[in-house]
Amino acid sequence: MARLERTRVLCEHIGAVVEVKAAKEFACEECVKTGDSWVHLRTCQTCGQTLCCDSSPNRHSTRHAMASGHAVIASAEPGERWLYCHVDKEFGEY
Ligand SMILES: [Zn+2]
Ligand SMILES: [Zn+2]
Ligand SMILES: [Zn+2]
Repeated sequence: MARLERTRVLCEHIGAVVEVKAAKEFACEECVKTGDSWVHLRTCQTCGQTLCCDSSPNRHSTRHAMASGHAVIASAEPGERWLYCHVDKEFGEY
């Protein structure tokens, strides 16, 4: 079966993000409740929740994506302008 060689086209999830949601507060919403710390922050582009990254002990962002099916997150770190899709494991810059 022939497979089409895809050129660098972003997945439909990242392509559907028209306006990137920024973090409402610079804190992981879940870690704040339990008093835990985090390393970096990511903002869910479906519901706007800001949660901690995979380098953080609780990995709330990835857990949220798995539990909710919300595919795309954006880095909430100052100066970082990228999106990541959990379904396609694809990065996109903006
Ligand atoms: Zn995708
Ligand atoms: Zn967290
Ligand atoms: Zn979400």
